[in-house]
Amino acid sequence: MAGNTLFVRLRWRCISENREKAKDPYFLGEGPDRVGCELCGACMTGCRRDAKNTLDKNYLFFAEKFGAQVIPERRVMDILPLSEDGSAGYRVTAVKTTGIFRTETVYRTKGVVLSAGVLGTLSLLLTMKEKGRLPHLSNHLGQRVRTNSEAILSVRANASDVDFSKGVAITSSVHPDDHTHMEPVRYAQGNDFLGLLAVLMTDGGGRVPRICRYAANVIQHPVSFLRLLNPFGFARRNLIVLVMQTHDNYLNVSRKHRKIWPFVKTLSSSQASEKKIRFTSPLPMILCGGWPGGWTAFRSAFFPKYT
Ligand SMILES: Cc1cc2nc3c(=O)[nH]c(=O)nc-3n(C[C@H](O)[C@H](O)[C@H](O)COP(=O)(O)OP(=O)(O)OC[C@H]3O[C@@H](n4cnc5c(N)ncnc54)[C@H](O)[C@@H]3O)c2cc1C
Ligand code: SF4
Repeated sequence: MAGNTLFVRLRWRCISENREKAKDPYFLGEGPDRVGCELCGACMTGCRRDAKNTLDKNYLFFAEKFGAQVIPERRVMDILPLSEDGSAGYRVTAVKTTGIFRTETVYRTKGVVLSAGVLGTLSLLLTMKEKGRLPHLSNHLGQRVRTNSEAILSVRANASDVDFSKGVAITSSVHPDDHTHMEPVRYAQGNDFLGLLAVLMTDGGGRVPRICRYAANVIQHPVSFLRLLNPFGFARRNLIVLVMQTHDNYLNVSRKHRKIWPFVKTLSSSQASEKKIRFTSPLPMILCGGWPGGWTAFRSAFFPKYT
C-alpha cells in the first residue's frame, strides 16, 4: 500500500515536472534517480522510462551496492557436490549466453542458493536429477507445484474509437467472490503480439471434446474469429483480464520429449489437482461476448471514461 502511494506520488510529481529526474522515492532514497511515469502502458512488457522498480533498474543496483557480485549473461548448466552431502562445497558450471562462443566457466563455492524462478529452478534441478548429480533430491521434485490458478482472458471492443493502451498497466482489481481476483491489464500501443495467442473463449467439460466445441464456436462467430487473425491494434482495443483464484490448484512439472520437437527434453506441465479452476462469478457471461449488458458493466467498472 505504501509502495502504491509512493508510486502515485512519483508519477504525479514527475509528470508535473516535465519528466525531470527525481531522487528515488522508494527504499529511503538509496536507489538510482528516477524519471516519472509517461502512462505509456508498457509496464507488463518492461518500463523503458525508469519510472518503475525493475530488476535491471534498481534491484540489481542494490544487490551490487550491498556487496553482491553479479555475473551477467551466464546460464548455470551443472551443479556437482564435491562430497556426497555437499559439505565440501559445489562445482558450478555456467555457459556464456551471448556471443558466438558458448564459453564455459567453472566456479567453486561453499553453498548454492537456486533462485532461477520456478521454471528455471525446476528445469535445472530436474536435469540434475536425471544426470544423478544431486543424489539427495527428492523423488517428488516437480510435483504439486502451486499456482495462483491464473487464466488470461481478454475482451475486445468492436468500436474503433477506443484506446485502452494508455495509462499504468494495472491500477485496480475486483473480487467477484471470495476466491476470485480479477485485474484489468493494458498493454502499450503496438504491443500486439499477444493477440496472436488469442482464441475464441470455449468452455471444456462434458462429452463433446473441447476442440469440437471450439470449431462450433468458430462457425457460430465467424466475424469474431476472422478479427482474431489480425493482431494489429490488439493492445488498443483489448482489455486483458488476469483472473486468479485461491482454490487448491497445483500442477505437476516434468521434463519430457515433445511430439512437436522430440530431440530434446523440455519442461512440461499437467494439471494434478482434482478440482479444476471454476468461475462462480458472472465473468463467463461478460467474456463470452454474448451478453451486451456484461460488456457494459465491465466497461463501466474498469473504464468509466468509455461508458
Ligand atoms: C508479466 C508478469 C507480471 C507480474 N506482475 C507482478 C506484480 O505486479 N506483482 C508481483 O508481486 N509479482 C508479479 N509477478 C511475479 C513476479 O515477477 C515473480 O514472482 C518474481 O519475479 C519471481 O522472482 P524470482 O527472483 O524468484 O525469479 P525471476 O524474477 O523469474 O528471476 C529468475 C532469474 O533466473 C534466471 N535464470 C533462469 N535459469 C537460469 C540458469 N540456469 N542459470 C542462471 N540464471 C537462470 C532468469 O533469467 C531470471 O533472470 C509478475 C510476473 C510476470 C511474468
Ligand atoms: S506506464 Fe508503466 S511502463 Fe509506462 S512509464 Fe509508466 S511505469 Fe513505465
